[in-house]
Formats: sequence, structure tokens, C-alpha cells
Amino acid sequence: MPLIRRAGSATVIALEDGVGTFFRPRQEVFPKASAADWARADALDPGAVTPDGQWLLRFRCFAICLDSGETVLVDAGIGPAGSPAAAWAPVPGRLPEELAAAAIDREAVSAVVLTHLHTDHIGWAVVGDGEAARPYFPNARYVLQRAEVAALESPTLAERLLDPLRATDQLHLVDGTTRLGPGVLAVHTPGHTPGHQCVLVGRATRPSPSPVTCSCTRCNSRTPASRTRTRPIRTRPASHGSACSASWPGWAGRSPPPT
Ligand SMILES: [Zn+2]
Repeated sequence: MPLIRRAGSATVIALEDGVGTFFRPRQEVFPKASAADWARADALDPGAVTPDGQWLLRFRCFAICLDSGETVLVDAGIGPAGSPAAAWAPVPGRLPEELAAAAIDREAVSAVVLTHLHTDHIGWAVVGDGEAARPYFPNARYVLQRAEVAALESPTLAERLLDPLRATDQLHLVDGTTRLGPGVLAVHTPGHTPGHQCVLVGRATRPSPSPVTCSCTRCNSRTPASRTRTRPIRTRPASHGSACSASWPGWAGRSPPPT
């Protein structure tokens, strides 16, 4: 059952495209982390570790259902079997089932915001290969920061993802903060990638806080990537914003745990 949270004049639904363990031990991936580091990480994010100490990955997308009737999807998950992430993702994605459970018709999605171009965030954006490739959300504009596209180094990914979106005139490049709908902003938050963006949801409708949907890493770590993501929160009054993570909508920053 999708997780749901109210934010301003929108309902944010956390969809889980897939969950599974990373294919390498996490101590290999982060060799400088000490046992104390892992203990802190596990206390902070118990949902990201299995009982036997494996790195548990949750691949989230967020549907922002505006009271005006528009639906904005943030990220497109790991995708189906054979997607660009299939080489390393633990499972194929199940976003269609998650959308169905949330009563969201893919044809009714008006915008798909791709936070960045790592393969676990674009999986369902375009499905099919070659001549059969088509945007999975046929009526959506696909919003990317221009800086992210400019930094893309993979011709294969450009051909597989960007070319079909250009062919249907659905690729929508933006520069910096961009309004996506009533109370919804895309915010350029570089660091994780040059053109990474988050989505700020909601107006100052007290007392409801408004989450920023982030991706890939927690907002409260001390990395430059995290600092850019938390800046939109810290520079706004508390009633305007709080941060949430890929794992759970409502965690981190000023936001209380979801109920
Ligand atoms: Zn990433």
C-alpha cells in the first residue's frame, strides 16, 4: 500500500518501484566507514539495512497529486526487466502496480520530473527498445535540468532515453528553479550530479509542512549534495518546507516522522 502524506494543496504518495539488497557488501562500497559509522547510519535509517547487515535499497518514486487535478511524478524508478538499471538492480521494477494501487492512470500524469539521470531514477521514463521505444507517460512533459543533460556522458543513455522524448516533443529542459504547477517547484540542487533537482511541494498553509522530495542520499549528511538539497528548506520559514528522503516521505530535516 503506498505511503501517503498531505503537503499544502497536494497529496504526496510514495511509490516503491522495487526493494532489494545491493549486490556488493556495503563495507566494500564504503571502505572508509567505521563500525561506529555503520551503527550511526543504522540507527538513523533502520530501513536501509537487513538483519544480517546487507544494504537494503528502496527505489522510490513520488506522485504529487494536486488538488487542481494534475499529477506530477518525481522519478521513474529502476524500470522493467531489461531497463538500463537491470544490470545492477536487485529486482525489476513494479511501478505500474504501484500506480494502479494508488489509482493513478499513467495517461493522466502531466509531468515527470527526473531528479537526475542515474539509471535507478529513469527506468520507466521510456520503455521498449529501438523503434518500439516510447515514453511510458504519453501525455507528460519530462522535466530535466539543462545542466543534467549537458553533463550526460553516455551516448547509449542519450539514445535510449532522450531521443524518444525529443521525438515526441516531451523533453522539457529547465534552468534552475521552475514552477511545475500550483505550489510545486523544481529546484536545482547540484552535487550528487551537476543537474540534480528536487521538488518543493506546497504553499505556506499552516500548520501543514511541505516536503521536498529528494533522491539517492539522505538530506542530513554533510556532503555538498545534501547541503544543496537542504538549502531550500533552511532558507524558508518552517511552515514552507521540510525535507524527506528517497526512503520515506517525511523523514529528515524539520519534518516529523510520518503518521
Ligand atoms: Zn543518483
